[in-house]
Amino acid sequence: MLSVEEALALVLAEIKVLPVVQVPLSESFGLVLAQDVVAQENIPPFANSAMDGFALLSKDSRLHAGQPARLRVIGEVAAGYVADRAVETGTAMRIMTGAPVPLGADTVIQIELTRSTEPDWVEILQESVVGNNIRRAGDDIRQGQIVLQRGSEIGVWEISILATLGWATVPVVRRPRVAILATGDEVLDVDEPLRPGTIRNSNSYLLEAAVRRAGAEPHRLGVARDTSESLREKFSEALTYDLILTSGGVSVGEFDLVKNILAEQGEMSFWRINMRPGKPLAFGHIGNIPLLGLPGNPVSSAVTFELFGRPLLRKMLGHTRLQRQQVDVVVVDGISECVMRRHYVRAHVEWHDGHFVAHTTGNQGSHMLTSLLNANALIIVPEGGVKIEAGDTAKAMMLDWPEK
Ligand code: AMP
Ligand code: MG
Repeated sequence: MLSVEEALALVLAEIKVLPVVQVPLSESFGLVLAQDVVAQENIPPFANSAMDGFALLSKDSRLHAGQPARLRVIGEVAAGYVADRAVETGTAMRIMTGAPVPLGADTVIQIELTRSTEPDWVEILQESVVGNNIRRAGDDIRQGQIVLQRGSEIGVWEISILATLGWATVPVVRRPRVAILATGDEVLDVDEPLRPGTIRNSNSYLLEAAVRRAGAEPHRLGVARDTSESLREKFSEALTYDLILTSGGVSVGEFDLVKNILAEQGEMSFWRINMRPGKPLAFGHIGNIPLLGLPGNPVSSAVTFELFGRPLLRKMLGHTRLQRQQVDVVVVDGISECVMRRHYVRAHVEWHDGHFVAHTTGNQGSHMLTSLLNANALIIVPEGGVKIEAGDTAKAMMLDWPEK
């Protein structure tokens, strides 16, 4: 049996980063930048006012014998316009936040520190030093500066930088398109009434959401029956995608059927992985499209996607951080089952009184979808039948923290 680490290394070794494409700025969120972003201009592009007030010469703002300076108001400049004249000594210009500072002026005093008692005149109630309330050109970003680096993830803040620098489209690693295929004669779609012996397809919907959460684009291709014809047909439909993600059909009973089709159409390894839930896993290629075959049991499918599918997609997306972070947690309720394989136990982890504490989510059977509810972590019980008593410390993989 392979360890989780060995299997993941084998999977990742076969995965290539997808090609670079230009996408509209607003579609770049979450994708990986394929080029350094070098500022072609200063930001702000021009010196502008940080306040509504008056632009003037600093030396004109000094009090004389305790009396405020009195300046003639020669006009005004609003955001989006440029002053039609310069400010000279003895004068001031009304200015709005974001408006370019007029020539001649070297300071801006906010309106609250002025008084206007007669039209076209203003009294300056406090001295305003050079540069006061002026945002200099290039304060934020200097022309020529590398602001964002190739390989970084485009998040909310990065979007604002790209926008301010005028990147209407952004070169990014393309988002993988993922075909999701369920298998099984017993598996019906969600809107079908159950007949004796059938269940509804929960895996495809879970995987669709998990694929989307990983930053990729899911496409459900429905359910393949447990026949060679049905599998062959569905696989041929899946050949235009970047990844084929299947669930079911890799356990002993159907193993041969799926294996035969895959052997006929590509190259595939079937692995038994030293983990629970989720022992059987298939990985290989159909044509040159990678295929990850997850187990059918819903929890196994969910956990193996998190452990193998998500890092795989992140690699395709060009991320360098592929693995979820792990922390030490105190397992409050302990883990009653003791298994020889590495055990991933669904748990809710939170910070409490100076450490992370974990509560398991109840019955851990691989058919128990409800054991996923409220789980934001997987406690990792090492192989070899390690017993975790209440209050013991263990490692947990955090499912709602960013990768490291
Ligand atoms: P298999 O790996 O095909 O032997 O399936 C293992 C278990 O998972 C069986 O109990 C199946 O009924 C169940 N199962 C398989 N596919 C799905 C699916 N798409 N949704 C929910 N349960 C499934
Ligand atoms: Mg099956």
